[in-house]
Amino acid sequence: MEDKKKDAAGGGIEPTQLTGKSRFTFACHQGLSCFTTCCHGMDIILAPYDILRLKKKLSLTSGEFLARHTVNTTHEESGLPLVLLKMGEEERHPCPFLTESGCSVYEDRPSICRYYPIGLATLRVEKEEDKKKGTAEERFYFLVREDHCLGHGETKEWTVDEWREDQGASRDDEINHDWQSAFLSRALPGQQRVDPKRQSLFHLTCYDLDNFRKFVFDSAFLENFEVDRSTVEKIRTDDDELLRFALRYMKFFMMMEQTMKPREGAVESWQAKQQEILGQAEVD
Ligand code: SF4
Ligand code: SF4
Repeated sequence: MEDKKKDAAGGGIEPTQLTGKSRFTFACHQGLSCFTTCCHGMDIILAPYDILRLKKKLSLTSGEFLARHTVNTTHEESGLPLVLLKMGEEERHPCPFLTESGCSVYEDRPSICRYYPIGLATLRVEKEEDKKKGTAEERFYFLVREDHCLGHGETKEWTVDEWREDQGASRDDEINHDWQSAFLSRALPGQQRVDPKRQSLFHLTCYDLDNFRKFVFDSAFLENFEVDRSTVEKIRTDDDELLRFALRYMKFFMMMEQTMKPREGAVESWQAKQQEILGQAEVD
C-alpha cells in the first residue's frame, strides 16, 4: 500500500525510487511563507500506532477518537478497512489539529506527516531462490515535491534514513509493519476480497484498541486461545503491548501466519462466539 498525502496541486510525486541512503535537501520551519498551508484538505491514512498515540494525546478512548476525528473507507484492491483523519468543514478544510503556531499534536502526529516530503511504499515482488518461487516484500521511498512547499528550496541535506530517524518514523514503521503487510497479502492476484466478518475484526484489532481490549477480556477469547500469563497481564494495561497482541491476532485471522494457538476443541465454539460478538457490525 502506498502512503498518500494528497497533493492539492494534483501531482508532485517524483518517479525515482529512493533508498535509505538517497540524499535530498529540505527544511520545514515557521519562517517559511508556506508554513501550515500543507495541513489542509489532505487524505491522511491513519496507521494503528497513529491512532493509539493520538487518542492518548487527546485523552480519548479509541472509540471516541474514531467517532470524532476519522472517516472510514475501504482499500480498493483488498477490501480491507482504512481510516482517514477527518478534515475540518471550514474553508480549505484544515486539519483539526492545526493551530496558528503549527501542529498541536506534533509529538504524536501521524506517520504520513512525519515522513513528508518522503513517501513510503511497499511492494510484493517475485523472488526465485533455491529453485522455489515465492514473493517477498520490497520497501522503497519516493520524494513528494509540491509547488506550494518551499522546504525543498532550503539547503539542509539529509539521507532518507537520517530524515526518518529525525522525525521519529522508525518506531512507527516497526509497529505498523504487519498492518501494512496485510494490505499487500490481500492485494495479490487471485486473492478474494476480505469478507465482512474479517473486515469488522480488522477494524477492531487495527484501529479500535480499547474495544479490542474488552473483546479479549469480556468474551471467551482467553478460554479459546493459549496466551501466556505475562502477556495477559501486560495487555490488560499497556496499550503498546495490546496493539502488538492485536496485530498478532490479526495475522492469525487473516491467515497470514499461525501466530495464535487455539486450545483443543475451541475453534468451532470460538468462531460461533466471535460471530455473536461481532453481530452485524458494518465497517463502511
Ligand atoms: S496532524 Fe499536524 S502535521 Fe499533520 S496535517 Fe494535522 S496539523 Fe499538519
Ligand atoms: S515547508 Fe512544506 S511541509 Fe513545511 S510547512 Fe511549508 S508546505 Fe508544509
